[in-house]
Amino acid sequence: MAECVSTHQHDRTQRLELDDATLREWDAQVLDVSDAGIVLDRSAFYPGGGGQPPDHGVLLWGGVQTRIVGCRRGDDLALIPAEGDPVPTVGTAVRGAIEDERRSALMRTHSGLHLLSGVVFREFGCLVTGGNMEPLEARMDFNLPEVPEGFKDRVAAACSEEVALDRAIEVSTMSREDAFAIPDIIRTATNLLPDDLEVVRIVDIVGLDTQADGGTHVASTRQIGGIELVKVENKGKGFRRLRVRITDGPMS
Ligand SMILES: [Zn+2]
Repeated sequence: MAECVSTHQHDRTQRLELDDATLREWDAQVLDVSDAGIVLDRSAFYPGGGGQPPDHGVLLWGGVQTRIVGCRRGDDLALIPAEGDPVPTVGTAVRGAIEDERRSALMRTHSGLHLLSGVVFREFGCLVTGGNMEPLEARMDFNLPEVPEGFKDRVAAACSEEVALDRAIEVSTMSREDAFAIPDIIRTATNLLPDDLEVVRIVDIVGLDTQADGGTHVASTRQIGGIELVKVENKGKGFRRLRVRITDGPMS
């Protein structure tokens, strides 16, 4: 699912999760506190975007815990504290920690959707028009005029094959010019790169799917687990919705 980032910096906050999706704990300093939330100099909280919801976690400081339940993306990335929790003041040194179970599930789910969109494009030539995910559950919308005979079974079989192949999932950045030279990048119908974007973050399931993307992903397709196709829905002319569930599947 496409979401593009120009740098791994969001105004005053360095976005650690874009360089290392496995990072779960880090040290940071509070730069700002307002009604919008808490701004850190360094954060691994995924703020939401491209269909992937924001992380949950905690800030630990002076023996106190602030639960983080979301993020507001404005000029700054402002972490939203749980209602009633104590909030650190500007200048406080904090230890940030991501709720691992939720984030790891979202990484598997997000990567699973990329795999699914790659498979559906390869097998049926149709484009992704939208999608959304929760941990281990997702939907993806396709532009597909007719549902061919055996569509669901064929997609399911291809997905489990791609998981078993354990393809590497690689993240890189490249110039806008280089990104546009990759034909696959522009095939996602919703993926229109903003004009002022000079550096594009690329998520590549090697040999299957290349997209401009700002999300967090697992390192290879086997880490996704199983991709169970729950339902194919007809939402109108050429508009199909696939509902999937990520299962423990054939993880090694
Ligand atoms: Zn994505």
